[in-house]
Amino acid sequence: MLKTHLFLRILIPKKFFGEVVFLDKIKEVKAYQVLDSRGNPTLRVVVKTKKHSGYAFVPSGASKGLYEAAELRDGKKAYSGRGVEKAVDIIKKKISKKLKGMRVVNQEDVDLELKRMDSTENKSRLGANTILGVSLAVSRAAADYKKKELYEYIAELFGNKNKPVMPVPQANVLNGGEHAGNYLKVQEFLLLPTRAKSFADATRMVCETYHVLKRIIDDKYGVNATNVGDEGGFAPPLRTPEEALDLVSKAIARAGYKRKIRLGLDVAASSIYYEDEYDIGASFSAKGLMRYYERLLGKYDIKSIEDPFDQDDHEAWAEFMRTVAKQRKVQVVGDDLTVSSPHRVRMAVNNELCNAMILKPNQIGTLSEALKAARIAMEAGWEVIVSHRSGDTEDPFIADLAVGIGASQIKLGAPCRGERTSKYNRLLEIEADLKRRVYAGKKLRF
Ligand code: PEP
Ligand code: MG
Repeated sequence: MLKTHLFLRILIPKKFFGEVVFLDKIKEVKAYQVLDSRGNPTLRVVVKTKKHSGYAFVPSGASKGLYEAAELRDGKKAYSGRGVEKAVDIIKKKISKKLKGMRVVNQEDVDLELKRMDSTENKSRLGANTILGVSLAVSRAAADYKKKELYEYIAELFGNKNKPVMPVPQANVLNGGEHAGNYLKVQEFLLLPTRAKSFADATRMVCETYHVLKRIIDDKYGVNATNVGDEGGFAPPLRTPEEALDLVSKAIARAGYKRKIRLGLDVAASSIYYEDEYDIGASFSAKGLMRYYERLLGKYDIKSIEDPFDQDDHEAWAEFMRTVAKQRKVQVVGDDLTVSSPHRVRMAVNNELCNAMILKPNQIGTLSEALKAARIAMEAGWEVIVSHRSGDTEDPFIADLAVGIGASQIKLGAPCRGERTSKYNRLLEIEADLKRRVYAGKKLRF
């Protein structure tokens, strides 16, 4: 390599040397204000080298954790203050200049430079949305330069040399909480098709069950109740978690997938926590809520509970892990608790607050930090669940991320609405193209 380098150095005039040898140098970073699935502005970023390029869209959450990195919004009249023109400007005028000449294959260096430019704890100066768009687009440009599929390149960045694993989808088929216009307090009722042969098989099982569920809702509540929420799941006029769990369990049984599709909940409890009380339809203390979960776990085939308690109610998380989760072998998932932050994941590992985490790159703002958080979790023996946001776009980046790091699960909504199907469809494509791969359902503990 050194010899070739010296040889080229003699042949190529000095002013063109860098350009020819390092074809992965950033030439320009472009940014556009576009739309997410809720009709709110978001960013599309394009990173260009001389011959290659990479793009990324930035998603946005509704039930955000207190410790997530901060989004930059314009706060002006347009789009009710949600515009991202400032972020577009920052990318075009500052970031593009600063990153010019850096190599797209040096992801960590680029991410460090972005962090340095921001220089705040929560990325509030440049905005985590601004930084993430650039960070992800750089990785796509690097994959393009290396002529690799994005998931192959991410596997290389992550040091994942295992046989590719296709993740179990967590499909949110009933929407409540901040994702739907109904009175259901629990945010998500998820299908986990663990006993499938492949991701394609799992997708078929999810779709069949989704359509059976639609018929059941139509029969019981009428056609108006079959409209969908932010993540493509139905949003019927339900009030209690039991009503929702009865509907979903019935749909699974009728579709013929009892014990093959297990259930998951995302309580998103930080959004229903008011002065030491949880309002889940009825009001509960943390201890009362624990007993309530225990009853639900006894009655329904629930194997995964995300954010069962508030992000700061660590005592409740730890006790739940020591007692209920241990007896019932349930997956306890941190989302608002861990916010894809290496520092918070480490804290949750040390205090044994959960045994799985949601990985949402926009919670932390750079790809390198998201990968680091996932690494800490995996080293602790946790499951990692890569996840979309409730406000998402057609960008299927998270599908490649899940396969690249070998995540056992991916949360991608119902198989409905383009911003959700883009992730299913990318995973279907990846699986079909792979000669050797395993389906993660076989490896899960439940
Ligand atoms: C979640 O809470 O897991 C979720 C996907 O919702 P949001 O994007 O609104 O945080
Ligand atoms: Mg969540």
